[in-house]
This record gives sequence, structure tokens and C-alpha cells, in this order.
Amino acid sequence: MIQENLNTVESKIAEACRRSGRSRDDVRLIAVSKTKPISMLQEAYDLGCRDFGENKVQELVEKYEQLPKDIRWHMIGHLQRNKVKYIVDKVAMIHSVDSLRLAEEISKEALKKNVTVPILVEVNVAGEESKFGVSPSETAALVEEIAKLPNIIVKGLMTIAPYTDHPEENRLYFANLKQIYVDIIQKNIDNICMGELSMGMTGDYGIAVEEGATYIRVGTGIFGERQYTAI
Ligand SMILES: *Cc1c(COP(=O)(O)O)cnc(C)c1O
Repeated sequence: MIQENLNTVESKIAEACRRSGRSRDDVRLIAVSKTKPISMLQEAYDLGCRDFGENKVQELVEKYEQLPKDIRWHMIGHLQRNKVKYIVDKVAMIHSVDSLRLAEEISKEALKKNVTVPILVEVNVAGEESKFGVSPSETAALVEEIAKLPNIIVKGLMTIAPYTDHPEENRLYFANLKQIYVDIIQKNIDNICMGELSMGMTGDYGIAVEEGATYIRVGTGIFGERQYTAI
């Protein structure tokens, strides 16, 4: 199943790249493996996946310990400051930084472990109350503050677009994130190296690619529906 799903996702990415005149190499697929068992991640790994996304610290650490070390782990979920210390030296990227206090904690723990952590600032482009992320108008100022901290580097922006059955409706939000990103680049802030836009999930990654995504985060489209069992 994973093989077929990956083929489908891959051809949709390729089509979206063709439609928008982008190179396939400029888009990286993150296999969002939250709630899925190690065996499924191993299967995806054997099929060539090296970027995996998780949204819970404990689950990420457990999977990190059991799977090959050349996997790039992406923390894509809301991160509590007291848990930062468990992952700073294990993740390739933290996509969900939405406050200076969280960035300060990442910087502090990264300094202790002598690593530099690449991060994305999460922006709530659609202004949904249920979502984390900074507002578009606060984004540049936050990037500027984080840029002053040691051992943390702002690589770009991330957003979670609204859930919709009509992905075309999210095009505007992806275009908005891209515009915020371009505006920040034009400010020439020291110590940032913006090149990444993490946007697009199973329902809307084709549109996100057309609007400039460099990372798309696909869970259901690769691993199938998630079942959340109450513990
Ligand atoms: C779960 C999740 C995804 C993947 O969602 P799908 O709709 O299953 O592709 C992407 N991004 C974030 C932040 C998530 O939490």
C-alpha cells in the first residue's frame, strides 16, 4: 500500500512542478508518520523516504531510537518548552516555532548540546482560533528577534492551512505565506537564511507546490487514515 501511495504522491508532485515550472528537486516530501507503527516507517524508509514528520516529542524520540540514523526528523507539532531538551540534537528541523520564549529555550538547549537547530516560524495565515502560529503581521518581528539568538537559525516559514474539501480555497493562504516570506527576505535581516516554505498536506499539497512549497507534509496520503485510540 505504501509503495502505491508514494507513487501516487510522487506523480502529483511532479505534475504540480510541471504546471508551475518548478524543478522537482526544489520540493521535499516529508512522510508524516505520527501514530503509525515502526514497521510502516521502516517500509517507507526501504522505499527511499528519509524525511519523517512527527508531532509529539516522546513518539519522535522512540522512533528516532529504533530507526536508521540517516533519517531526517521533522518536528511539526506544537512544542512545549519543557520538552525541547529531548529533541534539539535529534531533529533536522523544528517547523513549529511560534514564540520568542520557545525560540530562547531551543537556543539555550542547543548551546548546551553544541548543536545549531534549523527552525521555521509557524504562521497562522488564515487566523484560525484553533491553530497555533503567529499572525502574519507579527512574523517579521519574531524572525528578527530569533535571529539574534545563538545556535538557532531561521530557515523559513511554515503554515497549516484550514481543513477543506476544496483545496483550491487554500491557494490564497499559501500565496500569502510566500509573500510574507519574500517581504522578510527583502529586509536583509542578519543571521537568517530563509529558503524554506513548509506548506501543504494530503488534501492540498498540489496547490502548495504550485505556490512555492519547498517542504510538503503528507501523512494520510502515504500511510492511510490515522486511528486515534484513547489510552
Ligand atoms: C498530521 C499533520 C500533517 C499531515 O496531515 P495529512 O492530512 O495526514 O497529510 C501535516 N502537517 C502537520 C503539522 C500535521 O500535524
